[in-house]
Amino acid sequence: MFRLRAAACLLTAALAGATPPGQQPAADCRGCAGRGSLPCGKHGKDLGLEADGVVLDCSVAATCRVCAGARAVDCRQCERAEVEAELQHRQQLARDWLQQRLARVDDAVGHHALVHLRTAHCDLVGSLKPATVGKQKLDTHALLHLHAQRLEALREDFRATLELTEADLPGRLRVHLFRDAKDHGVIGPRETGFGSAASTGLKQMGPEFVYSMWQDPRSLPDDEAVHRNVVHNVTHLLLSQMLPVQWVGNRGHGWVDEGLAHWFEDRHSGSCRNYCYEELLLAPGAGWKNGIWRPHVRKLVEEGGMPSFADLARRNTDQLTFLEHAAAFAYVDFLLSAHGGARCRDFVRALKSGQSTRDALQAVYSWNPLTIEAPFQAWIKAHYPLPGR
Ligand SMILES: [Zn+2]
Ligand SMILES: [Zn+2]
Ligand SMILES: [Zn+2]
Ligand SMILES: [Zn+2]
Repeated sequence: MFRLRAAACLLTAALAGATPPGQQPAADCRGCAGRGSLPCGKHGKDLGLEADGVVLDCSVAATCRVCAGARAVDCRQCERAEVEAELQHRQQLARDWLQQRLARVDDAVGHHALVHLRTAHCDLVGSLKPATVGKQKLDTHALLHLHAQRLEALREDFRATLELTEADLPGRLRVHLFRDAKDHGVIGPRETGFGSAASTGLKQMGPEFVYSMWQDPRSLPDDEAVHRNVVHNVTHLLLSQMLPVQWVGNRGHGWVDEGLAHWFEDRHSGSCRNYCYEELLLAPGAGWKNGIWRPHVRKLVEEGGMPSFADLARRNTDQLTFLEHAAAFAYVDFLLSAHGGARCRDFVRALKSGQSTRDALQAVYSWNPLTIEAPFQAWIKAHYPLPGR
């Protein structure tokens, strides 16, 4: 009897499924609540990852044996031709996207152990070691999703801080976070067009905006250090990308280039530990005052030990000493914190457009390289603590 009733139900379902196209019995379907599709169950607990609203394409989802990247499956209890067509379309898009990514990156490194993600503004690829973030253990796939969210958040923070419009940051970011030196050694020079395979991080600052690094355990022992490294280096990309596209770090404005990268690094983690030098002149882990700079900048200001602004504002990024990195951070902090993002944006724009530091300072702040020092020092004395307090 029970069998019979079950069979009758199946027959009803089959009949409903056989309704001619054009009608939508799916509206009554209890299986899918009328949607015609169901979330793919194969992702298990990872389904949350794919629904984070930030990642638009994911290589793990694209190779799912059940949904093939559509992230949903057809409801078998009802018939909606347009939903099926849409699922097939999404599968095709995911397949095309992944093939193009594999051809560009994985084929070059010679293995397929990389996770690829696409967000609104970033193409991210990586193989970072599983890591503990807060109290959560994240595998490589979950960790890369987290980095995708962090990259979008950093871009938005940069945009909002400098009061930029969306149109002021055109183009995409391409970020590569590798576990192994070998993969970075292949992809870093290839994607950035610069540097040697022996580097730990390489950037291209235009016309494309690319960062490639590998997780050197000596300088990047944990997730926090990797995150800080990404914040620092991607800030450089965003600054170069901001219209007009131009890297200012090799035009005597290293203090702006490094200062802003340090400022976002400090804003994120409360310390500055990344320095951009050519190749490997820096011993891993080397730095100034353990990355906690404000009290030591205050002390130098009190003692008259700060480099003069006129000297600082002549140097390129890779010419800055440790102390000048800290001074660059402090001057950018002064401009942003005391005088706001919009004026800092206008000043940076003027430098990018080719104006001299003297003209840009005059136009935006009514200072010159000598008269900026008094208000800067007064602000440091009023806002930075002394060491040990
Ligand atoms: Zn249904
Ligand atoms: Zn994913
Ligand atoms: Zn799936
Ligand atoms: Zn830097």
